[in-house]
Amino acid sequence: MKNRLLSLILLLLSLPAHSQWFEKEFEVMGTIARVEFETESEQKAQLLITDVIDEMNRVDQLMSPFKTTSELSKLNQQAAKHPVQISDELYRLLQRSAYYSNLTQGAFDITFSSVGYLYDYRNNKKPTKAQKESLVSSINYKSVKLSNQLSSVKQSIVQFKNPNTKIDLGGIAKGHAVDQCIKLLQKSGIKNAFISAGGDSRVIGRKNGRLWYIGIRHPRNKDKLIVNLPLENTSISTSGDYERFFIQDNIRYHHIIDPKTGDSSRNSQSVTILAENSVDADALSTSIFVLGPVKGMALVNTLPNVSAIIVDINGKMTVSDDLVNAN
Ligand code: ADP
Ligand code: MG
Repeated sequence: MKNRLLSLILLLLSLPAHSQWFEKEFEVMGTIARVEFETESEQKAQLLITDVIDEMNRVDQLMSPFKTTSELSKLNQQAAKHPVQISDELYRLLQRSAYYSNLTQGAFDITFSSVGYLYDYRNNKKPTKAQKESLVSSINYKSVKLSNQLSSVKQSIVQFKNPNTKIDLGGIAKGHAVDQCIKLLQKSGIKNAFISAGGDSRVIGRKNGRLWYIGIRHPRNKDKLIVNLPLENTSISTSGDYERFFIQDNIRYHHIIDPKTGDSSRNSQSVTILAENSVDADALSTSIFVLGPVKGMALVNTLPNVSAIIVDINGKMTVSDDLVNAN
């Protein structure tokens, strides 16, 4: 009897554990992040959830413009005075930002913050006309000089060529954080997962054997979806003028800035980008928003493995060529 009981226990232990779904929502980078994945053990799931939260917070500590101790703040404090050595991680993100500035002829520009730092959307604050006029010429990604010095050790160095330059990675850092967390889950053998930070999401594998469904909200009605997309192994990012904004004298002031004017970009209401990873989807959703539906869609249609859904300033929706053909 005892022996039989023992062998039954051994048999149960040797059976493959049953996969379960785990999920967690938490606050980071001034927004809500979410992780959802499938794994066999509760213990492993809890460890991975902690790892994901830690990783998002680590990226935030590095790149937040609001934390005076972040590496990014150090650049804003010092790089106009002298060259500053930074981490490879931040350096690579600055290089990726410069790549998108060149690709979009300056629509994506992390130095938007030279004027952008004067907006405070929570407290309905914007720069005065005089401030905007005097600082708008300081928005220029070419003022950020990157150099990789290969002496005995590799050094990544940044210098600002303009005393008024300020940078902000809000248009690309969340995408980076999502990519980092997906990598972390994949390294631990996770095959099916979803991660989001604000409007930046990435899915791997499937949800219960089916494609993932991700809805894009109507820019003027938060209870309505404009589309619900079936996805697999894709990143999806949305930039909208309804995320952080205030309305004054019937004008909407929101957090996506046109580098040419230092004012909120008024070419689109929302732009959704599908791409292979979240850094690219994030940078492109901000960029295409600023470029607007005509120039923006023309650019998207030249990029391999990139799709777009644009809602223009009048609420009209257009999709990239590959999505039209997919219907
Ligand atoms: P979120 O997910 O925070 O809504 P988005 O991807 O829509 O972010 O990008 C908006 C953020 O990008 C802004 O909060 C700001 O930090 C940054 N940003 C605004 N305008 C530009 C621009 N022209 N180029 C690069 N980054 C920008
Ligand atoms: Mg973005």
